[in-house]
Amino acid sequence: IEQTLSIIKPDAVKKQIIGEIQTRIHQAKLDIIAIKMVKLTKEQAEGFYAEHQDKPFFANLVNFMMSGPIVVQVLQGENGVERYRQLMGPTDLSKAAAGTLRADFANSMRENAVHGSDSLASAEREIAYFFVDSEIF
Ligand code: ATP
Ligand code: MG
Repeated sequence: IEQTLSIIKPDAVKKQIIGEIQTRIHQAKLDIIAIKMVKLTKEQAEGFYAEHQDKPFFANLVNFMMSGPIVVQVLQGENGVERYRQLMGPTDLSKAAAGTLRADFANSMRENAVHGSDSLASAEREIAYFFVDSEIF
């Protein structure tokens, strides 16, 4: 059983599809064990994506992630990190299979509806970035 960090990004929150995304998560047999809606500051968005700070898309990514509220949640399930990545589909939505969250809900490479931790180590770091133990059930 693994935990992973899921973010419903500002584009998807604006479209009011939080419920649709959570239904897909439920259908994939992943449990939501922590959740909050937050609006990131510049510092929080930069810190969360620190690994990308030298990439050409970093500034636009940070601006996008602080452009509106996001839903941050911890998911739990068998092989949860990998299975949630599969549910999301690849970063490049033109390569995403129908039925994945990004194929169905992304606007573009940047505005791609959801985030999911890319490894167990990332999941631990990212969960701790948003939640204390007493907020995880
Ligand atoms: P995430 O980390 O958000 O789950 P990911 O692991 O699929 O997505 P990363 O390579 O970690 O993708 O990039 C982080 C985010 O940066 C992407 O989700 C996307 O919003 C944005 N991004 C990545 N590559 C590009 C790009 N070439 N142009 C614009 N935005 C990009
Ligand atoms: Mg990533």
